[in-house]
Amino acid sequence: MGNCIVGIDLGGTNLKAGIVDTEGKILHRLSVKTHSDADSQIISNQILELIAEIIRSAQVKTSDIIGIGLGSPGLVDKKGETVLFSPNLPRWRNIPIKRIVAERFSKPCVLENDANAAAWGEKWAGAGKESGSLVMLTLGTGVGGGIVINNKIWRGANNVAAEIGHMVIQMDGPQCNCGNRGCVEVYASATGMVRRFKELLQEGMPSLIKVSGEITAKMINEAALQGDKVSLDVIDETGRYLGIALINIMHVLNPEMIILAGGMIGSGELLMNPIRRATAQRAFEASYKDTKIVFSQLGNDAGIIGAAGCLLKESETFA
Ligand SMILES: [Zn+2]
Repeated sequence: MGNCIVGIDLGGTNLKAGIVDTEGKILHRLSVKTHSDADSQIISNQILELIAEIIRSAQVKTSDIIGIGLGSPGLVDKKGETVLFSPNLPRWRNIPIKRIVAERFSKPCVLENDANAAAWGEKWAGAGKESGSLVMLTLGTGVGGGIVINNKIWRGANNVAAEIGHMVIQMDGPQCNCGNRGCVEVYASATGMVRRFKELLQEGMPSLIKVSGEITAKMINEAALQGDKVSLDVIDETGRYLGIALINIMHVLNPEMIILAGGMIGSGELLMNPIRRATAQRAFEASYKDTKIVFSQLGNDAGIIGAAGCLLKESETFA
């Protein structure tokens, strides 16, 4: 058996690859811009070329590679072989990418939804190492979710579990990209935070941020660190909404750990404090007291490491 795995993290913006050892450490990495609007053949070829390139540039022997783990956004079929549909890659549909990669490299391959893969990465080699059950929320442009129960990814009956970003927390709330109203994503994503910030400015609240140009969650965070009242308020409100989401997760799953990841965690304790306050005040004590709420340890590497980890876990059944 080999001693390393190729982990692939396909994103709407970047396609990333890593050579990962059996402890979950990235030994070598490569990244290219994803041709996100290209047709599926071009994206498949990009993946194949990147795998070939990283094997070449890392100078690993093919015999050292245990297999290839692929994390893809969107909906993966129940057999874990085909990406059916992905919102950020509009022409990447019905792609049997597992077979394409496995045949090309003559190696075992697994395909996993990217948010599930990232949650598995944290479980395998990150913040969740000691936890058999955890829930991970990735707070970026949208809100992704992954659930691990009893040391296994929980995929649900149709492979569509863990859509935590689309858990409804306000019945008549603002409209979400998914078509529903009041989803977690409307409040707790970077997009949601910027929307709320602009609303408060329109209501006449003064801010250090000039409203003429583009406003990003990062700018709001930086202004908050300089004491900007409206930015502090928006982050606090985002944390309170996230707290509501976490209370629901705790009441349903009572996980050992909830991990927060993604660009939004740059707000650090400004975001964590209202989350902890809300959960301490409102969750059942038995659901709350033994659930750790922590930030991701692997950051942007969770996808690559997790995809590799999914292959390694599966390979225990090949051996
Ligand atoms: Zn939604």
